[in-house]
Amino acid sequence: MLPRIAIIGRPNVGKSTLFNRLAGRKIAIVDDTPGVTRDRKEVEARIGGRPVLLLDTAGLEEAPPDTVAGRMRASSEVAVRQADLVLFVIDARAGITPSDRAFAAWLRRQPAPVLLVANKTEGRGGGMAAYEAYELGLGDPVAISAEHGEGIADLYTTALPML
Ligand code: GDP
Ligand code: MG
Repeated sequence: MLPRIAIIGRPNVGKSTLFNRLAGRKIAIVDDTPGVTRDRKEVEARIGGRPVLLLDTAGLEEAPPDTVAGRMRASSEVAVRQADLVLFVIDARAGITPSDRAFAAWLRRQPAPVLLVANKTEGRGGGMAAYEAYELGLGDPVAISAEHGEGIADLYTTALPML
């Protein structure tokens, strides 16, 4: 069985952009509207040469389970429980939000190892916000720009020994 890597985070942080970047092709729908990934997408990809199963998820949102957002959250939780590695993505431009903090707290209680990924760090100001991510208690963030393809080699190097 291939190791399963789940890409998790609140809506609009760039999960689907990262998924497409790691998949090497456009599979997931990237959209400005939060929560546009409506279901889980899976693809076989390679992380530093190692075959893995990559999962894009709908954004984790705090909502009751009888709503669309709530069902998306439930499906993300299933993905995390089945994952061998979780890529927890935050938006370095937006900074750390209360929702990031809530999900970081939940992720710290899950058995799968979590790699913190600070996305949108291209250009000025990105590095500072990535630094803020230390406070989530999930270790060193890897700074990337999924859209511009920056930091992806770092991401591979860090993720590989965690598998
Ligand atoms: P998701 O909801 O977490 O799946 O986020 P998407 O991948 O759909 O991206 C949400 C928005 O963020 C889109 O407008 C993307 O183009 C944008 N985005 C994704 N990655 C980056 C990045 O590295 N830098 C910047 N500036 N924008 C990004
Ligand atoms: Mg998405």
